[in-house]
Amino acid sequence: MKKLNTIGIDIGGSKTAALFVGADGEILAENSFPTDSEGGYEGFLKRLTSVIIEGIVGGPSPAGIGVAAAAQVSRTDGKIIDAPNLLFSNVPICADIEKAVGAQACLENDVNAAAFGEYSARKDPREPFLAIFVGTGVGAGIIIEGRIFHGSSGYAGEIGHVPVEPLGAVCGCGARGCLEAYAGGAGIGRRAAAAVRYGRAPLLAGMVSGDELPSADKVAAAASEGCSVSAGILTDAAKALGVALVSAVNLFAPGTLVLGGGVVDAYPRLAELAADYVKNGALPLAVADLVVERSLLGARAAALGAARLAASDKSA
Ligand SMILES: [Zn+2]
Repeated sequence: MKKLNTIGIDIGGSKTAALFVGADGEILAENSFPTDSEGGYEGFLKRLTSVIIEGIVGGPSPAGIGVAAAAQVSRTDGKIIDAPNLLFSNVPICADIEKAVGAQACLENDVNAAAFGEYSARKDPREPFLAIFVGTGVGAGIIIEGRIFHGSSGYAGEIGHVPVEPLGAVCGCGARGCLEAYAGGAGIGRRAAAAVRYGRAPLLAGMVSGDELPSADKVAAAASEGCSVSAGILTDAAKALGVALVSAVNLFAPGTLVLGGGVVDAYPRLAELAADYVKNGALPLAVADLVVERSLLGARAAALGAARLAASDKSA
């Protein structure tokens, strides 16, 4: 039996996943539980550490535990600082795990960890390496010289808040016209819900109930059945993504551009259209050697990336 080397934890808004990973990055076992466990942070921590300990029992202690969180994090302190989608914030998660489990833990934002996972999953990834994840929101991870690029404040990669329409839709961040407001799952849902409310998308209306925000896959299903308003919302999403990616590609001249996330999985055409937009819209020299690929790791990217970070300690 292969030996446990590291553990990767992905703390998401609804689910927390733990992957037990061998020295070659292979998954030996996995487990998950709802993040909003009873008992607030104390209850969550208890559940998490018992999942970790159960996974270790009988085998060697891990060389490290990598934690990816859908949150603003302090990597140096190992603290989750602010997390609008989690029920807890300002918690010293690394110190608490170390105390309970007896193995060293490191922390990273989930999008950066996912990008590092995608980077590590490729044999010879061309750099700079950009991974864009289009889910409820939109985020990017940037890898340069094998390390995550954090920027001076630690906030590099917030491509979801790059403006693509100067006077456009209001974004969750308070600004107008952000990429996320058009291409993110929540943005697509808000625009689709407005179309349903005003009777402009009866086909889509038949697929959703009550106040439900239409998901990207429902909007894609309605579009494929002939709903022109749904098709228009998705075309806008692809254009918005394309515009932001042209800027990113002209700025970084990346060697690899990875596109992933729940919205891309629900509507793969989004990645194709955005890639075409980049190839036609970016400077020819900036795209000359660019490889555009889909995510290899899917929903496991952040946990696998966190495990890789724990093994390589390249997060700093
Ligand atoms: Zn924004």
